[in-house]
Formats: sequence, structure tokens, C-alpha cells
Amino acid sequence: MSEGEKIVLVTGGTGLVGTAIRNVIESNKNENEKWIFVGSKDADLCDKQSTEELFKKHKPTHVIHLAAMVGGLFHNMAHNLDFLRKNIHMNDNVLQTAHENDVVKVVSCLSTCIFPDKTTYPIDESMVHNGPPHPSNYGYSYAKRLIDIQNKGYYEQYGRIYTSIIPCNVFGPNDNFQPSASHVIPGLMRRLYDLIKDGNTEDKVFTVLGSGKPLRQFIYSLDLAKLIIWVLRSYDSVEPIILSVDESQEVTISQVAEAIAQAFNFKGKLEHDLSAADGQYKKTASNAKLRKYLPDFQFTPFNQAIKETVDWYIANYDQARN
Ligand code: NDP
Repeated sequence: MSEGEKIVLVTGGTGLVGTAIRNVIESNKNENEKWIFVGSKDADLCDKQSTEELFKKHKPTHVIHLAAMVGGLFHNMAHNLDFLRKNIHMNDNVLQTAHENDVVKVVSCLSTCIFPDKTTYPIDESMVHNGPPHPSNYGYSYAKRLIDIQNKGYYEQYGRIYTSIIPCNVFGPNDNFQPSASHVIPGLMRRLYDLIKDGNTEDKVFTVLGSGKPLRQFIYSLDLAKLIIWVLRSYDSVEPIILSVDESQEVTISQVAEAIAQAFNFKGKLEHDLSAADGQYKKTASNAKLRKYLPDFQFTPFNQAIKETVDWYIANYDQARN
């Protein structure tokens, strides 16, 4: 390694966010940076020895830690214990192995869905630990919250700048479209694709689970990728930072379904199944801290990002995570 060279190891490098970073970095690489993207085939991060071997092999100076057990509302509700344990193991193994190998900086990933259930809006970075999370995803939430606690510990005891980002809901190419595990956007895309693949006709009914009323902020994975690269290069605080679209860009689940229907040019009817769970009504997050650093950052318009994702999905259906 030449002097000043950064070796950036991206865990979860094969997932939705990891592949977006890989795409963005191709046209945005600094000469002194080497980027390495790894997935679960390269190492089982739930296992300390496997994690150590990965670090020995690549000798990173910087780590973007994205690997996690990730899933939508229904997957979380059925597997809270697995979400808790697997994520605790992965996070502890990555952070501790990074520390043991003298890694200069680690950027780990929390999520806006780990914030307290009962809270005031908008949510900001100071509220992560202010009360219990929504019961539907307590396992994932507590495991993620512990990253922030650990980061503070590594700073206090060792002066390490291990920090975390808090993205809102992410979507884009390479998402997980499996019905049992997916988040709302890929879940809806998959169901609509299946509904119309044998004929996009007027008699088809596209059913959206829940009332469609909950509000969410969605960030396009390629926008998030640009922001994560900025955090790695330029954000030098241990305190978490919310990476979200503006509050004015919040949309209802009905609007999401309509945007997807439009992107597929769906000719049938859209209905809501009111018997299905809605999850948290809203989780509006403030990106004021991000905006202080990057006031002019342009997010891709929602309908455009949905269209690009649908086009990617249609073109890559056979290789997608279905
Ligand atoms: P994905 O589900 O798309 O990808 C998960 C990644 O983690 C994959 O690369 C997977 O590897 C890897 N992984 C899972 N288990 C292990 C393991 N035991 N050992 C090694 N690697 C493992 O996730 P996203 O890209 O959606 O999420 C990235 C990060 O962003 C996560 O930390 C998530 O919590 C956070 N986040 C995501 C949001 C979203 O809406 N998607 C919202 C907010 C935060 P492989 O594919 O090779 O098996």
C-alpha cells in the first residue's frame, strides 16, 4: 500500500446499497482509494474468525459496514429474535475486528425505522435512544441502536472515529424482491410484475396491503450511495447523521403504488386490503443536519427513480433476487 492510500472495504457490498455505491464510485473514484465490495460468500460476518480472515486478506484502512439481516414489516414481525441476534453478532464482529486491525474509520448503517415508536416529529439524530421502538421490529432496532452505543465506546476508550448513518427507506436496482422478505417498494413491484407478465389487461386488480395511508420518506439507492461516499470522505464525527430526502418529499403508500403502476403502464385497477397491518403511521425524519453540510444536494425525483427501478427490474428479472 502506498502512503496515503485508502483501502475501503464495503461489507454488504452485494446488496441494494452496496451495489449502488459500486456503481457510483466507478465514475467518482479518487486516485488514492481502492474499493473492495464483499458479500456473504466472502465471509460470514456472524462468525468472528471468518471476519478476522476477511480483514487479514484485504487489510482495509476504512470500512463501510452495510451487511445486515434486512427485511420488510412482515419478515421482521415473524423473526424478531433472528434479526436481533444476527445483527448484534455481525456488528460486534465488524467493529471489534476493525478496531483490532487499526482501521481508521468505520461508517455503519442504522435506519429511521429504529427510532422510538412514541415520539415527536420530525425525528432527529438526538432521539435514537429516547424510548422503545415499534414492536413490529424491536429485534432489528435494538441491534442497530447498539451500533451507536459501541461507536461512542470506541471513541471514549480508544479515540476511534467509528460513526453511523441513518438512511430512510431505500429502493433501487438490485433490491430484494422476494415476497417473504421484501420492503414495500420491491414487494409491490414484484407483485405487479407477476400480475401483468401474462397480459396487462383492464380486468386485473392490483391489491395493496394495508390502508395505503402511512407516510414514508424514500431515498433512491444511487442518491444514498453518493451521500455515503461523502460521509466516508468528509464527515468526521462519531455522532450519527440522518441521510434522508427532505420532509416535503414524504409520500403515502398509495402514492407509491400509483407511481409503480404508472411506471409499469398498468391498465387495471388498484385496491387496498384493509385487513393487512399498516405498521407505523409515519416516521418523518429531519435531514436538517445533512442540509447544513450539503444544502444544494439534489435528490432524484421520486417518480423518475421509481421508473428507473422498474425498468431495471424488467430488464434484469431473471437475475434479480426474486
Ligand atoms: P440487502 O439485503 O440488499 O443486502 C444485505 C447485504 O448483507 C448483502 O450484501 C448480504 O450478502 C450481506 N450479508 C447478510 N448477512 C451476512 C453475513 N452473515 N455475512 C456477511 N454478509 C452478510 O441490504 P440493503 O442494501 O438494503 O441494506 C444495507 C444496509 O442499509 C443495512 O445495514 C440496512 O440495515 C440498512 N438500511 C436499509 C434500508 C432499506 O430500506 N433497504 C433502510 C435503512 C437502512 P449476500 O447478498 O452476498 O448474501
